Amino acid sequence: MANIFSSLKKAYTLLKNVDFEKFSNLDETQLQGLMKLIGAPHKERQIPPVEGDFYHLGDEALKDEDRALQLKVRAFLEKEVKPIVNKYWLKAAFPFELIPKIAELNICGLTYQGYGCMGKSNLMEGMLAMEMARIDTSISTFFGVQSGLAMGSIYLLGSEAQKQEWLPDMQQMKIIGAFGLTEPEVGSGVAGGLTTTAKRNGSKWILNGQKKWIGNATFSDVTIIWARDVDDNQVKGFLVRKGTTGFAVEKMQDKMALRIVQNGLITLTNCEVDEEDRLQNANSFKDTAKVLKMTRAGVAWQAVGCARGAYESALSYTTTRKQFGRPIASYQLIQNHLVEMLSNLTAMQTLCFRLSQLQDQGLLTDAHASLAKVFCSMRTRDVVSRAREVMGGNGILLEYDVARFVADAEAIYSYEGTKEINTLIVGRAITGFSAFV
Ligand SMILES: Cc1cc2nc3c(=O)[nH]c(=O)nc-3n(C[C@H](O)[C@H](O)[C@H](O)COP(=O)(O)OP(=O)(O)OC[C@H]3O[C@@H](n4cnc5c(N)ncnc54)[C@H](O)[C@@H]3O)c2cc1C
Repeated sequence: MANIFSSLKKAYTLLKNVDFEKFSNLDETQLQGLMKLIGAPHKERQIPPVEGDFYHLGDEALKDEDRALQLKVRAFLEKEVKPIVNKYWLKAAFPFELIPKIAELNICGLTYQGYGCMGKSNLMEGMLAMEMARIDTSISTFFGVQSGLAMGSIYLLGSEAQKQEWLPDMQQMKIIGAFGLTEPEVGSGVAGGLTTTAKRNGSKWILNGQKKWIGNATFSDVTIIWARDVDDNQVKGFLVRKGTTGFAVEKMQDKMALRIVQNGLITLTNCEVDEEDRLQNANSFKDTAKVLKMTRAGVAWQAVGCARGAYESALSYTTTRKQFGRPIASYQLIQNHLVEMLSNLTAMQTLCFRLSQLQDQGLLTDAHASLAKVFCSMRTRDVVSRAREVMGGNGILLEYDVARFVADAEAIYSYEGTKEINTLIVGRAITGFSAFV
């Protein structure tokens, strides 16, 4: 009752001071505007939560325990990785303190059976690659090289003894791996053009040549070197241990993307490797390609994560940044960018979701993986550039994160097969014509 009297008193005081004569000069629209102002109860606007998983793939598709793992990894990344990545990115340094913490998550070699690995689905692994790249693509790349390229080569192509020797410690990240395929003069053309040579000499192999862009190589304990056997002209894989004579690594400097990833230029000069350290089931480039097929699917998910991180940062920014007195998210042109970003992101997510299902069913082909990689890396470029656009000048400041996503999207676009190479793989699959040369 006391409230009603107090409201009536306020209304009386307000109305007593109003000059009603002036209102008669207002037209209909002005009057309606005024009524709206007086009549509208003051309501706090409810901003929907920022969510890049618009079609609920995480909560719908994953089993409860997998969803819990996804959220655990997300929480770890938000708490431990996000606050430090910009600092390391700027310095082009690697946050070694994160390695034991990532190891504790127990997600390395997630899909492999045995050797301490969890034997989870490819879908789960893809989702985690996305989660990592959503916070930082460099950390996701470091992890992808370790868990996918390096461990994957041993898991798919090593002998049982080699798997027993390396995989359990790699799974716990006590041993860090690298994967050396690309050369200074041979990138896209590695299938037929590797120039690094391997010459058998009794129980030893002698490696000579150079490898460029090799992620983790500056500190890896083991690097898988792909080289052409001069006797049968086939590509073979070698486990080169840290400190081997004739194996030298120089850190690549001044990258404008994935600055946290330590890429090495490796020089092999009469580098001696035991026959026991040759990957026993890698007999030609077709075997190398088995590893790439598996990891390419992961890179497609990584592109989704990079796009999602940028979209979520941008969406959040637009709801708080005000211009002309209103949040910029309330303007149609900004909403157009946001919806374009979300459409691309959702298309990528659903495509990768199906890709992982195919992988889990054992139906994945090279062309499936290539199509996802090419589509996602192109769309990601579009998403990050729109994210940068809606943030105005702040879009190029590192502290707002989107600038890092913009730069890192460029690396995703080129590694694990460029747009052209993946396009040619799909083109060959659908037409029957190889158009590489
Ligand atoms: C950040 C980063 C990390 C990397 N990490 C690793 C790693 O850990 N291990 C590793 O082995 N490699 C790694 N790479 C190398 C990567 O896989 C190569 O960069 C990639 O394969 C492309 O090779 P390239 O850069 O030599 O380009 P090139 O092959 O020289 O290509 C240049 C351009 O020519 C186009 N092109 C080439 N051939 C054709 C054709 N037939 N038709 C039409 N267009 C064509 C390409 O698409 C591209 O646009 C990494 C690269 C980057 C950027």
